[in-house]
Amino acid sequence: MTATRIDGKVFAAQVREQVARHVATLKDQHAITPGLAVVLVGEDPASQVYVRSKGKQTVEVGMKSVEHRLDADTSEAELLALIAHLNADDSIHGILVQLPLPGHLNEDLVINAIDPAKDVDGFHISNVGLLGTGQKSMVPCTPLGCLMLLRDHHGSLSGLSAVVIGRSNIVGKPMAQLLLGDSCTVTIAHSRTRDLRDVVRQADIVVAAVGRAQMVPGDWIKPGASVIDVGINRIEAPEKGAGKTRLVGDCDYDSCAQTAGAITPVPGGVGPMTIACLLANTVTACCRANGLDEPKGLTA
Ligand code: NAD
Repeated sequence: MTATRIDGKVFAAQVREQVARHVATLKDQHAITPGLAVVLVGEDPASQVYVRSKGKQTVEVGMKSVEHRLDADTSEAELLALIAHLNADDSIHGILVQLPLPGHLNEDLVINAIDPAKDVDGFHISNVGLLGTGQKSMVPCTPLGCLMLLRDHHGSLSGLSAVVIGRSNIVGKPMAQLLLGDSCTVTIAHSRTRDLRDVVRQADIVVAAVGRAQMVPGDWIKPGASVIDVGINRIEAPEKGAGKTRLVGDCDYDSCAQTAGAITPVPGGVGPMTIACLLANTVTACCRANGLDEPKGLTA
């Protein structure tokens, strides 16, 4: 069997188009422009790339984009004052503090200072609790993107068995909650799981969010299963020339594609969905703040 390749680039473009249409309607019919504020503290090069890309895509869908770039030695009090200011700003519907923060800043404290209704990353403890109890919440972007891809491929996920490899707060745990919300039978595997191969082999859906290059080989995958590869790992690529590198996922794409029914590539799978879902969350937050109908298909 050769798996269907789930194209996250194409799907993310469709999500962005849907967001753009909704933004246009909000502007035309309600004179409201959704606004997203991104706060970056310090000079982390990867974070700078993400923030630039988020700002560019925010503008492309017609939303207002505000960037706050703060020095690496910004105090907690200064950062909290900025968040309080953004919480009170009616033109801002989504606030994202780019992680990781420099070591002297308490990430939990900072994230929990964001108004939960504007917490478009879905990391505020209130949103974590709402998601865990099956209530309306802001949902973390990467797991939301994975859910959209799975729903698109399967239609209903009800009754399927799913294994999420990884138990982080930003991917693994919310992913498991979302799959449970769609009535999957969910197992969360992690670094201490025994007989991981046998656990994975039971699953109709495998979501790998570990950060270990190509650790899941094809013979772990149940024939016909869907494989969603969240991992992003850089490895050496001597075939491209001396010193060259390339990105790979947590799953060994070539062998998994022989067994799986569907699989996301890395790059070009889950990755593009993350920012698309950030934009979706911002438009959802804007609609909720204004008591308007939310766009269908852009939330969990
Ligand atoms: P993390 O380091 O916080 O968590 C990794 C998890 O993997 C842990 O829960 C750990 O228990 C588990 N783990 C480690 N070794 C294991 C092993 N040998 N067997 C089974 N489980 C093991 O990482 P994270 O933030 O959840 O990110 C995971 C990966 O997803 C990374 O590669 C990251 O770059 C990527 N990621 C991608 C996106 C995206 O937009 N596509 C977003 C977030 C994270």
